[in-house]
Amino acid sequence: MKTCPFCKGNIETRKISHMHRWNDKFYLFENIKAEVCKQCGEVFFSS
Ligand SMILES: [Zn+2]
Repeated sequence: MKTCPFCKGNIETRKISHMHRWNDKFYLFENIKAEVCKQCGEVFFSS
């Protein structure tokens, strides 16, 4: 199990939706795989 670099909490892999702004356009990524810290909620993208 990975741990969070900020709070050392456990990180789990989850599917989330993420809105990303790029060049004044919004891109919505749905059901993408991300690693989320259970403790502080920090999101890490694996790819
Ligand atoms: Zn954390």
